[in-house]
Amino acid sequence: MRLLNNDLAFFSIHCYAEDIFVEDMKEFDVIVVGAGPAGLLAAGSASAEGLKVLVLEKMRQEGRKLLITGKGRCNITNDSNVDEFIKHVYPNGRFLRSAFGHFFSSEILELLHKYGVETTLERGGRYFPSSNKSADVLSALLKWVKELNVVIQCGQRVEKLLVEEKSIRGVQANGLEYRADKVILATGGKSYPATGSNGDGYELARSAGHSIVLARPALVPIETRGGIAQKLQGLTLKNVQATVWVNGKKGGEDFGEMIFTHFGLSGPIILTLSRIVVDALHQKSKVEVSIDLKPALDEQKLDARLLRDLDSYGKKQISNIFKDWLPASMIPVFMELVGINPKKEGHQVSSKERKSIRNLMKNFRFEITGHRSFKEAIITAGGISTGEIFPKTMESKLVSGLFFAGEMIDLDAETGGYNLQIAYSTGWLAGKA
Ligand SMILES: Cc1cc2nc3c(=O)[nH]c(=O)nc-3n(C[C@H](O)[C@H](O)[C@H](O)COP(=O)(O)OP(=O)(O)OC[C@H]3O[C@@H](n4cnc5c(N)ncnc54)[C@H](O)[C@@H]3O)c2cc1C
Repeated sequence: MRLLNNDLAFFSIHCYAEDIFVEDMKEFDVIVVGAGPAGLLAAGSASAEGLKVLVLEKMRQEGRKLLITGKGRCNITNDSNVDEFIKHVYPNGRFLRSAFGHFFSSEILELLHKYGVETTLERGGRYFPSSNKSADVLSALLKWVKELNVVIQCGQRVEKLLVEEKSIRGVQANGLEYRADKVILATGGKSYPATGSNGDGYELARSAGHSIVLARPALVPIETRGGIAQKLQGLTLKNVQATVWVNGKKGGEDFGEMIFTHFGLSGPIILTLSRIVVDALHQKSKVEVSIDLKPALDEQKLDARLLRDLDSYGKKQISNIFKDWLPASMIPVFMELVGINPKKEGHQVSSKERKSIRNLMKNFRFEITGHRSFKEAIITAGGISTGEIFPKTMESKLVSGLFFAGEMIDLDAETGGYNLQIAYSTGWLAGKA
């Protein structure tokens, strides 16, 4: 079947790769590979410039990953200003200044509002849709690109870039050639491969001569030696301080919430610190994480309070006294680790035992043996080297007409809506350029 211009608007919102055979793709000015947030923003902004845009998406549905963001609520973006924002991006947030200058948090919020998505600002400057449904964000973006007559074809896996004399000429997908003088790669990273982002884009870029900074799982849970974390499985700790130790030296720290799992440690502060952990493990360093269960108290204050409680409740069993100090499920494990009989009464605790308690509260230490795989990593660190991309256009420095957008670029950020904003901003700029 030949795709006619009149059909484009109708087809644009539907994924229809298997029932439509597109013979003549010469009419498209731009091909976008990937219908995630970066690809959709790229397609919309290019189309708004009057260009005819085709999006090729390998999954049967657009934005699979967007749907699972923020546990299905989608942390859309963050309200920090550009200077603050780029401090949360690695390894080189400054690369994004130009993209953010064109399209930043206020622009995505405005676009979403226009298509009916009300938003709510939450703790940490995080914006969510007021409906708490990521699907609303995706359908707003799809409505927008539909209005702009973008054509999206799902079930089309791009397997080859057509490059002639250092210029892009199109792509090959499912054995068919699609021609265009501009191609925007927005294929995402390697994390959560079931959503479609499995690292294809790195191979495509590599075939065009690009260097790929080793892709590593980031914002990923970590695995610990021994069975302690397992015994505490399911327990969430709030207001604790976690510190990463690399070969005995402090590598980083964060304050907030974490959780014990059947394999080790997870939760917001662990995910943030995982970037340091993963890199150190890859360098074969010895990695430990210590948890300060009482970060608001220094050793002296902690000792004074312990003494006070052990005295005041001298006739109570220590496991009962500790109910004011630790979550109930942690007490037996804690007592086992400090080697104190939980039935011991407060007044029987020696100063040596008090010291062990103090040490463990300030320095609950885990040896780190590994990290979870890409399947459980929220984001991918590494990717297309930013040194080979023009930051003002997102165009390749090696192949003219080839552009990059989103997670596939060697940029990753902490949790807080930063990663999606990187996808929108780089996508928008690539489409505009
Ligand atoms: C569980 C989870 C929760 C998250 N929550 C948040 C959050 O709340 N806030 C936030 O800011 N970030 C969050 N992120 C990160 C965020 O989802 C990503 O940064 C973002 O989706 C990246 O957008 P992208 O368009 O670059 O890539 P993707 O969203 O991965 O889209 C890439 C698309 O390209 C397609 N594709 C890949 N290869 C090919 C090919 N060869 N041919 C055709 N198509 C191809 C894929 O199928 C996919 O649809 C979360 C991630 C995960 C995994």
